[in-house]
Amino acid sequence: DAPFPPLPQDLLAAAHRLLARAPDCHKYDFGRVLVIGGSRSMAGAPALAGMAVLRGAAGVVEIAVPQAIAPVVAGFDPALIVHGLPEDGGGHFGAEALDGLLALAQKADVVVCGPGMGRGPALADLVERLWQSFPRLLLLDADGLNALAGLPRERLRAPAGSRMLTPHAGEMQRLLGSVCSERAALEAEATAYAAELDAVLVLKGHRTLVTDGVRNQHNASGGPGLATAGTGDVLSGLIGALAAQGLTPFEAARLGAWLHGVAGELACEALTAPGMTAGDVLDALPMAWKALA
Ligand code: AMP
Ligand code: MG
Repeated sequence: DAPFPPLPQDLLAAAHRLLARAPDCHKYDFGRVLVIGGSRSMAGAPALAGMAVLRGAAGVVEIAVPQAIAPVVAGFDPALIVHGLPEDGGGHFGAEALDGLLALAQKADVVVCGPGMGRGPALADLVERLWQSFPRLLLLDADGLNALAGLPRERLRAPAGSRMLTPHAGEMQRLLGSVCSERAALEAEATAYAAELDAVLVLKGHRTLVTDGVRNQHNASGGPGLATAGTGDVLSGLIGALAAQGLTPFEAARLGAWLHGVAGELACEALTAPGMTAGDVLDALPMAWKALA
């Protein structure tokens, strides 16, 4: 009997394609991800997302943060490339950061926006501009979702199939603008919302739902050890990395949720649910890859 819930059959081929690397491969074969996030009091979130991009096996990660925290974020790991951009008086991205962020995004296959970004006044404009103009996959998480929630839905037009949202239940309700305490009802509303925005939506929690508005899949891996700060940041970076390697957004979300859940189960087994942290989930990701091999 397998130690983990098995990966759904239709994802096996995609997973094995990522594991089987050509001997003469180069990092640029595996895609580039830009993480946009961070604020004065949340420097760790973009670092966790950036590390998950690397453990998710994208070739290059760049992290854009408000300039005061750039040295702290870079200090998390020597493989991280960190750009500091202009900030406002509250330690969030300022309006002057917008052009620089859009320029950095031009080189990226995938942009992950939101981890630790906080609630600054310039952020709604930033998210709206990215939503309307970024031609490849834009994944919004955390405060990226909170900024999105404030924008009128009729202004949210983007290239087909190029947007992903990864809300937990609270963020989902903020996006909907309504309270919905029953999980099945929230899933139904999330599915309709994904269809309306033409986005892949990952409604996180126990048995995470991945929906594109038509197809609905629940993730079977993971457990209560994941209910700790920062694990969502790890998931967003991981999914971004998988998409940068050529998986479709729907496949990337499902494989990412599965690997993240397995890493959570492994960390929990070794360290207990109370003892584990999001960093332990990062450290267990290599063993989750091994569970696939
Ligand atoms: P966030 O709420 O953004 O920090 O994300 C938390 C992450 O941990 C998501 O990927 C959730 O699906 C996962 N998670 C949290 N609690 C549980 C749980 N009880 N069972 C399984 N996964 C969980
Ligand atoms: Mg989160």
